[in-house]
Amino acid sequence: MTELKGNFFSGLILFLFAIVICFLSAQKFLSMHKAEIIYPSPGLSSRKMLSSYFSGVKDTRGDAEVYIFEGEEKGGNILILGGTHPNEPAGFIAAFLLAENIQVSQGKVVIVPQANKSGFTHSEPQEGSPQRFSFDTLGGKRHFRYGSRLTNPVHQWPDPTLYINPSRQKLSGTESRNLNRCYPGRKSGTLTEKIAFAVMELIKKEKIDLALDLHEAAPEYPVINAIVFHENSAELAAVALMELQLEGFEIRLESSPKNLRGLSHREWGDTAQVKAILLETANASQGRLIGRTSPTLIIGGKDKNYVKAGRLGRLFIPFGDEGIPLRLRVARHLATIKALISSFKELDSNKIIEIDNMPPPSQIKEKGIGTFLNPSK
Ligand SMILES: [Zn+2]
Repeated sequence: MTELKGNFFSGLILFLFAIVICFLSAQKFLSMHKAEIIYPSPGLSSRKMLSSYFSGVKDTRGDAEVYIFEGEEKGGNILILGGTHPNEPAGFIAAFLLAENIQVSQGKVVIVPQANKSGFTHSEPQEGSPQRFSFDTLGGKRHFRYGSRLTNPVHQWPDPTLYINPSRQKLSGTESRNLNRCYPGRKSGTLTEKIAFAVMELIKKEKIDLALDLHEAAPEYPVINAIVFHENSAELAAVALMELQLEGFEIRLESSPKNLRGLSHREWGDTAQVKAILLETANASQGRLIGRTSPTLIIGGKDKNYVKAGRLGRLFIPFGDEGIPLRLRVARHLATIKALISSFKELDSNKIIEIDNMPPPSQIKEKGIGTFLNPSK
C-alpha cells in the first residue's frame, strides 16, 4: 500500500514537472510571434499591407508591411523584398536599413522587409538555432528574429507528398511552404501561394519596373556572392557588375535557368514582365559544416570548419580567417542594389530612381549595422 502511494506521488511529481516544462517551452515558442518594430525614415510616403493588394491574405499570418517611398518627380519604380527566407538575415536586415534611412527624390522605392512573415514565427527544426540576434544602437539593443526558410506548419498544414507549384513544377512536399517556389501564386491556394499572389498584385498595382529579392545561402552552395538574373535583365546586371568590381566587391553573374519554375525572379520576369533579379550572399549559419548555431555565428559569420574548408579550397568563394560577417553581407546587398539602380538609369533615362541617405556600404563594413538602425524607443 505504502509502495503504491509512493509510486502515485512520484508519478504525480513527474506529471507536474512535464506540465511546467511544456508550459515554459510553449511560452518560448509563442514568443516568436512577437514581431520586431520597424522605425521608418521620415522620408516614408505611405505604409501599406500586402492585403491592400490582395485581400486573401488579410487577417492571416502571411500579411506583411509594405513601405513606400515616393519622390516628387516620376521615374523608375523598384521593389525590394527581404525576408522571403527568414533564416537569411542579410536580406531582411538590408531591407530594414533601407526603410529606416532612405529619402527618395525621384521615382518610387517599395520595400517589403519581411515577405514571409509566417516564416519568422518559428525556426528550423533540429538546428538548435537561437530565436533572436541583436545589434547595439545608440538607444539600446534591437532584436531580430532568426526564422525559418519555410512558412510555419501551424499556419499551413499538412504538406502534400508531392507539391505541384503554380508553374506546374513538381517539387517535394515541404517546398509548398517555400515562398521562393510558389510564384506566381494562386488566388485560392495555400497561405504561401496567396502571399506570392499578393506580391504579384503589388508589382502590378505599384507599376514596378525592377524587382529584387534579397537572399543568402550556405557558403558551400555554388551560387553565392551572386547576382542571379532573369534573361530580361542580363544587360542591367552586367553594367551593375562593372560598378561593383570598381568598388572592390567580388560578385559574379548567374543566369537563371529557364526550367526552374516558381522562383520569385523567374515568375516576376515571365508573368509580370518586369526586370527581375535575385541576390545571394554567403551565410555560414545556414551551412552544413558548422558547430553550434549561435547569435555570434549569425552576426560574425565565422566558423572554424568553414575557415578550414576555405583553406582547403573546398568552397566556391574566398572564406578568410575572419569569416564573412553580417555587416559585410549587408554591405554587399546594399552596394548591389545601388549599382543596379544606377545601371537601370544608364540603360533607360526615363527610369531614374534617386535615393538619398542610403547607408554607405563602406561605412556599414566599418562601423557595423547598429550604427544605421534607428534607435529603439
Ligand atoms: Zn533564400
